[in-house]
Amino acid sequence: MPPIYATSTFEHGNLGGFDYTRSGNPNFRILEGVLASVEACTHATVFGSGVSAITAIASTLSQGDLVLCEENLYGCTVRLFDQVFAKFGVRTEWVDFTHPEAAARIHEQKPAMVWLESPTNPLLKVIDLDAVCSAARCAGVPVVVDNTFATALVQRPLDLGATLSLTSTTKYINGHSDALGGAVCTDDPSWHQKMVFAQKALGLMPSPFDCWLITRGIKTLPLRLKQQMANAAAVADHLASHPSVSWVRYPGRDDHPQRAVALRQMNGGGAIVTIGLNASREQAYAVCKALRWFTMAESLGGVESLICHPATMTHAAVSTEIKEALGISDGLIRLSLGCEDITDLLIDLDHALALLP
Ligand code: PLP
Repeated sequence: MPPIYATSTFEHGNLGGFDYTRSGNPNFRILEGVLASVEACTHATVFGSGVSAITAIASTLSQGDLVLCEENLYGCTVRLFDQVFAKFGVRTEWVDFTHPEAAARIHEQKPAMVWLESPTNPLLKVIDLDAVCSAARCAGVPVVVDNTFATALVQRPLDLGATLSLTSTTKYINGHSDALGGAVCTDDPSWHQKMVFAQKALGLMPSPFDCWLITRGIKTLPLRLKQQMANAAAVADHLASHPSVSWVRYPGRDDHPQRAVALRQMNGGGAIVTIGLNASREQAYAVCKALRWFTMAESLGGVESLICHPATMTHAAVSTEIKEALGISDGLIRLSLGCEDITDLLIDLDHALALLP
């Protein structure tokens, strides 16, 4: 096993070419090598969190630049664009990229960047990455895909034409809810240089210990994901016929609105299931808190199942009007399936849903 290089600085002239941990450390390099191999690309750059990776990419924009963003992005990505990068003159427009006309806007508006997430958080919309990336390529526009929900084992954005594939390694890649991290993968050497610069110049680097944990966690990613996806598929099917559940959204089910796209670009349905309850906020909370095997918490992708109320948790930073327009309602609940026994999970859900009138 590699040691943890718990050092802030390195003796000048060392064989690895390291000088100071803000600009590189052997534990970063080991994790970057593993991530590049999983994503089958030439370059990976690691950051201290998924949000640091988002910041690194956004920091390459200039005053006046326009970013066409998928309208259903993770709440903190929305907050960064709206409340931080807007102050530096970066403009954003929010687009439903599942709409057939959306790709044409890239050609018309010539943005500096297109920012996608697929499946999206928390609505699990599946964007046709090949179609959007081809339109962007014709217009010479770089595309960022936040691949956190799928991981490179389920979907390879770079193979589908994206310029940058971004991941919060906090989630499935590490898988044990004990470290934060982010990564940006690319085949483009000039973008790689920009990411290395942002890691060092903005101080967005991870800690060597967190890289060591994530490098250990990723070894079991295929095993974990297999069990988590099987649990997600079983939970989605079970809840789809449950009388207290109004609707179920899961990319692995035939009733998913973009099922055909999911079948083309994803290698499985992922391990997140979103459901709608005909319930008030208080009732939705009561269901979440009554569960034994699902912990009500932010985050996803760990071996323990989590449940979350996006309207008041992960998407609390998104305005009420936008949440209403997107359908992130008080009755919407997101489940992140872990590796537990499926029978325990189904009994637990039935027991908690029985609280609803
Ligand atoms: N992207 C997505 C889709 C996420 O769900 C999250 C966190 O939940 C992030 C990025 C941010 O990652 P981190 O919490 O590691 O900063």
